[in-house]
Amino acid sequence: MNKPKMASEKGVPSNSRAQILLAQLEKLTGDGMVRDPEMARQITSKLLHLIQTQEKTSKEVMSKGTSGMEVILSSLESTRDIPTILNILCILSELLTLGKGRRAGVFVSKGGTAVLLRILISANKEFPPNEELMLQVHSLLAKVGPKDRKLGVKARLTGALNVTINLIKKNLQNVKLLLPCLQVLRVYSANMVNAISLGNSGAIELMFKIVAPYSKKNTSLIKVSVDALVALLKSKTNARRAVEGSYVSTLLALYLDWHRNDTWHRHTVIRKGLLACLRNVTNIKLGRRAFTKADGMRILYNSSSECLSVRTLDPLVNASSLIMRKCFPKNRLPLPTIKSAFHYQLEHVLASGPVAQRYSQPPGGRTQAQLCSEPLKKVDDVVDDSDDNEDTEADTENDTENEEDEKECRSLNDDIEKDINKLHPQKIPSRPYEELRVYEKFFVELSEDFQGYNFESPTTSSPAQSAQSIVVPTPQALPPNHITAPTAQNVSNASAPAPTIPPLQLETSQFGKDFNTKEEAHNQPVEQDWSQAPEYVSLNADEMRVKQKGSPISAPKPTQSPLLLEGIAIRCLAAGGGGSDCGSEGGEDEGSEGAVLEVPDTAQLLPLHDLDLYVEMVKGTKSVPHYTEVAYPDYFGHVPPTYRESLLERLYGVQRSKIFQDIERLIHPNNIMDKVVYDLDMPSCPVIESDGESLRFNSKFESGNLRKAIQIRKYEYDLILNSDINSNHHHQWFYFEVSGMRVGTMYRFNIINCEKSNSQFNYGMQALMYSVQEAISGRPRWVRTGTDICYYKNNFARSSIATGGQKGKSYYTMTFSTSFSHKDDVCYFSYHYPYTYSSLKMHLSKLEAMRAPEIYLRQDVLCETLGGNSCPFLTITAMPESNSSDHICQFRNRPFIFLSARVHPGETNASWVMKGTLEFLMGTSLLAATLREAYIFKIVPMLNPDGVVNGNHRCSLSGEDLNRQWQNPNPELHPTIYHTKSLLQYLAHTQRAPLVFCDYHGHSRKKNVFMYGCSLKETIWQSNISAASSDLQEDLAYRALPKILSQIAPAFSMASCSFVVERSKESTARVVVWREIGVQRSYTMESTVCGCDQGKYKGFQIGTRELEEMGAQFCVALLRLKRMTGLHNHQHLLDLESDLIGTQPKVVSSCPTTYVMDEDEPSFLEAVDYSAESNDDDTEVDLEAAASAASIATTEDGGEVPDRLSDAESNNHDAWKSEPVTSSQ
Ligand SMILES: [Zn+2]
Repeated sequence: MNKPKMASEKGVPSNSRAQILLAQLEKLTGDGMVRDPEMARQITSKLLHLIQTQEKTSKEVMSKGTSGMEVILSSLESTRDIPTILNILCILSELLTLGKGRRAGVFVSKGGTAVLLRILISANKEFPPNEELMLQVHSLLAKVGPKDRKLGVKARLTGALNVTINLIKKNLQNVKLLLPCLQVLRVYSANMVNAISLGNSGAIELMFKIVAPYSKKNTSLIKVSVDALVALLKSKTNARRAVEGSYVSTLLALYLDWHRNDTWHRHTVIRKGLLACLRNVTNIKLGRRAFTKADGMRILYNSSSECLSVRTLDPLVNASSLIMRKCFPKNRLPLPTIKSAFHYQLEHVLASGPVAQRYSQPPGGRTQAQLCSEPLKKVDDVVDDSDDNEDTEADTENDTENEEDEKECRSLNDDIEKDINKLHPQKIPSRPYEELRVYEKFFVELSEDFQGYNFESPTTSSPAQSAQSIVVPTPQALPPNHITAPTAQNVSNASAPAPTIPPLQLETSQFGKDFNTKEEAHNQPVEQDWSQAPEYVSLNADEMRVKQKGSPISAPKPTQSPLLLEGIAIRCLAAGGGGSDCGSEGGEDEGSEGAVLEVPDTAQLLPLHDLDLYVEMVKGTKSVPHYTEVAYPDYFGHVPPTYRESLLERLYGVQRSKIFQDIERLIHPNNIMDKVVYDLDMPSCPVIESDGESLRFNSKFESGNLRKAIQIRKYEYDLILNSDINSNHHHQWFYFEVSGMRVGTMYRFNIINCEKSNSQFNYGMQALMYSVQEAISGRPRWVRTGTDICYYKNNFARSSIATGGQKGKSYYTMTFSTSFSHKDDVCYFSYHYPYTYSSLKMHLSKLEAMRAPEIYLRQDVLCETLGGNSCPFLTITAMPESNSSDHICQFRNRPFIFLSARVHPGETNASWVMKGTLEFLMGTSLLAATLREAYIFKIVPMLNPDGVVNGNHRCSLSGEDLNRQWQNPNPELHPTIYHTKSLLQYLAHTQRAPLVFCDYHGHSRKKNVFMYGCSLKETIWQSNISAASSDLQEDLAYRALPKILSQIAPAFSMASCSFVVERSKESTARVVVWREIGVQRSYTMESTVCGCDQGKYKGFQIGTRELEEMGAQFCVALLRLKRMTGLHNHQHLLDLESDLIGTQPKVVSSCPTTYVMDEDEPSFLEAVDYSAESNDDDTEVDLEAAASAASIATTEDGGEVPDRLSDAESNNHDAWKSEPVTSSQ
């Protein structure tokens, strides 16, 4: 053996005493140590002394380039002499105390831990074992253990686990020895297989002998043993052992003791550790049950309440909250069935079709829409049976709380379309022309010759009347809207009945009747005398009318502004109980004008709003529940406030305090009223008789959604939303009325059956409120409202059926608090700015009436919906300049733009954007005129009228998402989709496929307005398919429109756009129109329901003004697009777009739009907690299997196992280290 190089680069003298001693020691290594123990003793003793007395010595030994550590370790390995070993252990201890872990790293890398374990094992064989030696070895292991990722495996394989355990057992009173042993045990237990093995050796019971009630002594001992216990209890086997040993109540008692006595909060680490033990134990059902039985909820609730005021104790409060939420008993929603309270009997369910299968409905049957009296058991929520089963196998124990999120995440990544064949825009073999020919009638503009039209003096000859000739009435199309263009005066005179304006809506039975009969029917003026005020706007099932109150009021006349009504107070009287404030006021209005209320004069501000016309439109709207009332906000209209509304700042601690209030229900059940005050499932009394102590609720009007309201505390209500009709979930939209409030009192509302795992309500969004008192005071508007808003997982359970097959056990609560400013008010709350089907019809009617002569506008009825409502279809362009053949030719050859909206009824923002688009298109600006001359617009403004009318969020009456039916729409079940697609197929067949297709939507989880488009290249790029994609030809045309929008529309964000084709979206309008119709610019435009985080509106919530502006800007963008596409040279087009986009075409591959599917929100100081349970032990199943495999394998074939195991464990090591996974968003 060569002489170790004692000299170092750092100039350590080779003749220093330490070097000399090391050299001597090295000579002895091997046989010498055994032959001359005395010498070894002497040298090591001198070296130890040197290190202890001279600081530079340890540096010399450990300095780089020297082999000091090797020499020491090899001598330790070769000696059997106890004093020498002790000397060396002391030397190591001295050396490793300094150096901030780097030296420990060197020690581990030289195989030091293995040497220590071997010494430990052989020392253990001596009788009695040398206590000091054991102590030293454990001290060293405690120091270096955290540096050795494989120490746990090594210890188990050498049998050291039991040595340590036995040592602890025998030395419970020996604090000096106990501490290092426990420290080592803590390191061992971090490995899950070890934890199970140690549990089998009695480690749990042992730890409970050491963990003690509050004491000022030995706190470090207690802390280490609590830590070890936390690690041990991560194993479900150990958790079960602890439960069976009745240690849950012990843990609670210990925690309470420390909580009470640790008044100066010096030992919060121990308290936190005890909570971590409880958290781990309650990961199993047995543990949760034991926790509840031991009064854990009350203990943790009370202790946490006492900690709330001390901010530094937040970790304790948060840990307690987590445990309590996990152990909070799961309840079913207080409903007879989660299936919608309304049922629509489908006429056309195919016997074996998906709808029939899903709802087990007999084919045929009743033809009338009707209320559901007998809930279909099969689709109902079922409480998970497994909750009642005792789990005996560790492996079956697997909480699934986070699975839904993981699954969602996984499916998002897997969702990108990878099938190249499906990515190529391919026209599916078109339907035979004979079949499509019937759609010719919707494109009259392509054959009209305008021969009878007087172009010279459009003002003398009503253009609308001329337009009559261009409409071909069909069995499904409305008769022509041949309207005498009203003068400006009578348009603005909003109060005048408008007999000349035929509503879009017709009775089904009237379709065959002759035109005059219909005219007569619609010419009947509304029976309304404005000298008498309506009691409330109401519809009877058979006849709709505005109810009149008998008391005449002198002043108002129809033209007078503002109009006077006395609706509100009287309404309160009608609904309120005797003795309430409302009652006394009701008495007053018998002969006085005290209760006279005014109708807001919105004619100037809302030229498209007309109260009479609205009521008229509602009459023709058919709802499944046969609504007979009109909500005031829809009747009065909405004038957006002049100011912008900021995103709500989230306050620290709100979520926690709300969760604590929920937990309090369980702790103090006697304080809970649990009084049902509104219930759609009770057909006889949907509005429960009020005693004046409760709010009154109502949702029985168009687009209304509230199923049940339960008074929880004096000023707190749980609200349950109604599922989409013929479905058992999909709810999110809400719209309801509240009255009987106290002024200035803060009310808390909790919507307790929310489904999505995240919500913009956590990121600054507020709900909307409409006050009728405000409206009649001249401020008819929806305003953002609510404080203390948050969204979190609650304790109401749902089955996988309730989630449409997804796993996930809990509903979510959206909570907000608000107060009311006016006495006797009627207020409305909604998810987003309502926009009813009747509103659309009113707007269209007004647009028609106000049409300028140069505008070509045609309104057809595309088809009827399942519910018997008509689906309007608009054609807007400019009239030809003359009927010369040149002008007619230009007219017919304008490219088509195809727009649609509101396939998802809850996305009302889409309707407001569409309103902006329509108003711009019908406007008088030069831009609008140019745009009309450039294109023919074909617009389906509401693809799902039935869903809108009935307060659905997502589906149509068949209970299906219509935007997943585009691939194969059924003409009976999805008529609006079937016919809209047919229109597009007709256009494609006649070589007139639209230049742009865009379907307007709303997005509930992201900010800004953005687009989804379809790009072959970007999809391939994102999916990492290795296919030779470089030769794929695709120009950037699809990017131009969103790019223009991002430049001109403040709410629009290019960064949020995506052009990836997802598999889950393959049957959406966007993808089908792209792939089958061959429209390259096929988009979904998503508008936020919340607000913007970029651009001019950054920091503000979105309002109808911004949404309508977006719709107008979309038109302006189309005009810019026109300038580019007007050039026929393809390369020019590309260049132009590149200029506009400011990039080179190749950029597509290097910088595609981010594929962001999920919301990307900043984190808060108070972590937004969606998961009541942290569930980080999914891996244990494998590990426990590995553990049993290991115990078998080591007995049979010890040689093979270590590598295999160590791999498994090192893989798991990181997983173990990571903290419980909580969603960062
Ligand atoms: Zn949508």
